[in-house]
Amino acid sequence: MSFSTFNFCEPLLQAITELGYTEPTAIQKKAIPTIMAGKDLIAAAQTGTGKTASFALPILQKLSPYHTGKERTLRGKRIRALIITPTRELAVQVEQSIADYGKYLDLSSMAMYGGVDVEAQKQRLIWGGYIVVATPGRLLDMIHQRALHFDELEVLVLDEADRMLDMGFIDDINKIIERLPKQRQNLLFSATISDNVRALAKRAINADAVELN
Ligand code: AMP
Repeated sequence: MSFSTFNFCEPLLQAITELGYTEPTAIQKKAIPTIMAGKDLIAAAQTGTGKTASFALPILQKLSPYHTGKERTLRGKRIRALIITPTRELAVQVEQSIADYGKYLDLSSMAMYGGVDVEAQKQRLIWGGYIVVATPGRLLDMIHQRALHFDELEVLVLDEADRMLDMGFIDDINKIIERLPKQRQNLLFSATISDNVRALAKRAINADAVELN
């Protein structure tokens, strides 16, 4: 099986080829078609399995129609995909992967996390806020400052959900989810699907989500 079976656009396939990926990993084979079909997903996936590409590639594909010209007029604080990660390191890493996979697509992305200047991140949002990868605390901060607009949000990803719960982010995540449009695609990735993760999924993810173990 090769990546060409997924019906990705040429700019995306080109980036994948240049990265030297020849075959999708197990999680990618299962998750990519599900996400491309527009379904919600709950996936048990460890780091190192290729889980980042399993959500980043279909999200880039989904947003790719906006990449030529049209995107410029839509630029500004209109976030189309929001990826929430437990740590700054993971946010940076995921955003870098998105930038690598999307290098031939004109879709801007940015990482947003605590410990750096809020105003600088707000400025960056104007040009880079199309796909936002963020940690919960800073994200909520930005929401309270009315710096983020989610009315055009299409996809929410909760990455390493079990770690976010272990780190005590549940209240922040619940508050963030309340601000998002109800109509959206939800993807949850977690090393383990504990009862707490299930409880979060029940609130955040549509009931007919596909579950991958
Ligand atoms: P992740 O599980 O998302 O942290 O990815 C682990 C590593 O696998 C990263 O360095 C990716 O660049 C790499 N990777 C992801 N998908 C593939 C693939 N299909 N073929 C080869 N390497 C991959």
